[in-house]
Amino acid sequence: MVMLHAHALRPEPEVLLDLWSLDELKGVRRTSDMLEIGAAEPYTGIIASPEVQLHLPALAAAAHTIGAAQIQNRGTLGGNLANASPAGDTLPVLLAYDAVVVTDRRSIAIDEFFTGYRKTALQSDELITAVRFPLGRQVTFRKVGTRAAQAISKIVMAVSRSPARIAIGSVAEVPLRARRAEAALERGDVDGAIAAVAEDIRPIDDVRSTAVYRRTVTQNVLRELLDGPHSPSTPTVPAFLPRR
Ligand SMILES: Cc1cc2nc3c(=O)[nH]c(=O)nc-3n(C[C@H](O)[C@H](O)[C@H](O)COP(=O)(O)OP(=O)(O)OC[C@H]3O[C@@H](n4cnc5c(N)ncnc54)[C@H](O)[C@@H]3O)c2cc1C
Repeated sequence: MVMLHAHALRPEPEVLLDLWSLDELKGVRRTSDMLEIGAAEPYTGIIASPEVQLHLPALAAAAHTIGAAQIQNRGTLGGNLANASPAGDTLPVLLAYDAVVVTDRRSIAIDEFFTGYRKTALQSDELITAVRFPLGRQVTFRKVGTRAAQAISKIVMAVSRSPARIAIGSVAEVPLRARRAEAALERGDVDGAIAAVAEDIRPIDDVRSTAVYRRTVTQNVLRELLDGPHSPSTPTVPAFLPRR
């Protein structure tokens, strides 16, 4: 809808398919070893779900930072995925949980989903129906933006200690896993992970931030998530660097 309003879609679509009334694409379902969230479940439903709060608190925290109430009421997990913005706030969380994207025809590991800037492994006529999350993983989340609401992230991060997963958005053309940092964390080397993460990311200067800021804050946030006591539901708090 954002692209449509900006007349950025070429060719401009003549027909739109509205998924909103398809109840089959909504809801949160639990099985013995996973939680499944419908692709058309809006963020408000994710935030309010007791199952999500219990098993995937980092996802509830991420959904809570998206836009503001109006966007949370209408925006969906499937839309955030297919939109594939490097700044999509749920996407590092999905990477940290090793989520699986379920479509009308197959399952796609989240690791293989983002193929380039705003590009995904989806076929042009492929519908995301749900996202599956394994149970029992502890993931923490932090978004750094200019404000506490209506802020596109300068960086956004989700971390699991075991298995080691360090997933970051707004620091490359895709939401990425910091593989060198993960390898250090897997060895229990926290300082090594913080040093290595600067090599894993490819930040740029843009309207929201600078590459220098992003690199520095990525390391600071990783230290905070690995060192400090942290609740996965910590809301967005702007982080600032001292003036140069
Ligand atoms: C004011 C504003 C503030 C925002 N703030 C944030 C923010 O802070 N953080 C953030 O991450 N995002 C933000 N967004 C972006 C928004 O959250 C995402 O674009 C949203 O999740 C998209 O969901 P949607 O269901 O509305 O998708 P749509 O906008 O309807 O669709 C987006 C794309 O996904 C495709 N798509 C949607 N559902 C499916 C499906 N089930 N299967 C296959 N393809 C599908 C559509 O065809 C389209 O290409 C903001 C948007 C606005 C307008």
